[in-house]
Amino acid sequence: MNTEIIAVGTELLMGETQDTNSSWLGQRLPEFGLELKFVTIVGDDLTRLTETLDRAWRRSDVVIAMGGLGPTLDDMTRDGIAHMLGEQITTDPDLKVWLEDNFARRNVNPMPQQNYRQAGIIPSAVAIRNAMGTAPSWWIEKGDKILITLPGPPRELTNMWTTEIAPRLKERLPGQKIMARTFKTIGLSEAAVDEMVRDVYDVPGMDFGVYAKQDGIYLRGIAKADTEAEALTTLLRAETMVRDALGDYIWGTDEEYPPERVGDLLREKGYTLAVLESCTGGMIGAALTEIPGSSEYFKGGAITYTDDMKAQAGVPQETLDAHGAVSEETARAMADAARRTYDADCGISVTGVAGPGDQDGVKAGTVFIGVSTPGSASVARHEFPSRRPLVRNRAVTAALLQLIRALQSE
Ligand code: ATP
Repeated sequence: MNTEIIAVGTELLMGETQDTNSSWLGQRLPEFGLELKFVTIVGDDLTRLTETLDRAWRRSDVVIAMGGLGPTLDDMTRDGIAHMLGEQITTDPDLKVWLEDNFARRNVNPMPQQNYRQAGIIPSAVAIRNAMGTAPSWWIEKGDKILITLPGPPRELTNMWTTEIAPRLKERLPGQKIMARTFKTIGLSEAAVDEMVRDVYDVPGMDFGVYAKQDGIYLRGIAKADTEAEALTTLLRAETMVRDALGDYIWGTDEEYPPERVGDLLREKGYTLAVLESCTGGMIGAALTEIPGSSEYFKGGAITYTDDMKAQAGVPQETLDAHGAVSEETARAMADAARRTYDADCGISVTGVAGPGDQDGVKAGTVFIGVSTPGSASVARHEFPSRRPLVRNRAVTAALLQLIRALQSE
């Protein structure tokens, strides 16, 4: 079913607030057989909002309008919908009592007059109470079409969606089922992934997309069928073909993220890991220890920011003198030192120039990452765009992927 999202709020248009709700929601629609065709951002202006709603209502099967459900006069989503459908807003007595109770529980007495706006309803809407705020959602069905409103604050929106809207949609839309899987690859370009999986594109009932992400190139497959079982069969058939085509280039699927995969691989092989970090200042250790139970395989390490600290942690002074701190040789020696000094099976090292300025003739954004395992040693040189936070974040991901690559091909 063709679906459309309308995000309401001038602050979204001005860039003061990022429209994260649409992307959150966009990821959740396929499981209901809802195909997102348009996302529109519209400001707090009744004429433009009504126009936008009207166009969406005419061309789409499901319309989701979010934000603009607050108590103030610039919250116009309710008015826009009423205009668009030619209906009158009246006060819903049950909602009114619910709202008054809501305020009384928080010791706000009497309820501000403005909030009575949130008790408004039109004849074709059913109100759904908001467990986390005062803005109820509306559920409207006319003919085969559905219009849903959702509160703007992300916490309220996600709760409303998960607890109220998703179950209603499941019941209401027994139609086409969609199942998706994302394969995350490393070491391949977008074009290479595309070429290697060409044959899989012909599997009936499957759609594919290739995307470049910070942690590699993603291949996303979507299976469509009348039943969940059929969609799953199609997806599994495609998955076998994708895995045959891409092999060890795949490092993870769906929500899996690099520290998690590192943990799984180290556990599988019974290896431990230590790190020596320079420009990432402990961020690799922080990423690894986000995973519960990481003490089983992650021993720790050191932030060796200065040459002295690198030498103290076991990097030969000659290497530092001969090649400098930011060099392939030092990265290799640091990864070895991490293993030796902390008695670990694997070592990761990072040394680079996070920027913004160049350092000792090395360009900002240059990062060397060393990985040493019982079966291999590698150093990779990266030139990241020289914005400091970006360099550091990218270095963390690249280091973890380099270790994954090494362990997967052992
Ligand atoms: P409330 O009753 O809390 O005012 P509302 O439905 O009227 O709910 P808005 O006033 O439009 O929501 O937005 C409230 C806040 O929610 C915004 O200041 C913003 O922080 C956040 N928000 C709104 N829309 C979005 C969006 N599309 N993506 C992310 N955050 C959003």
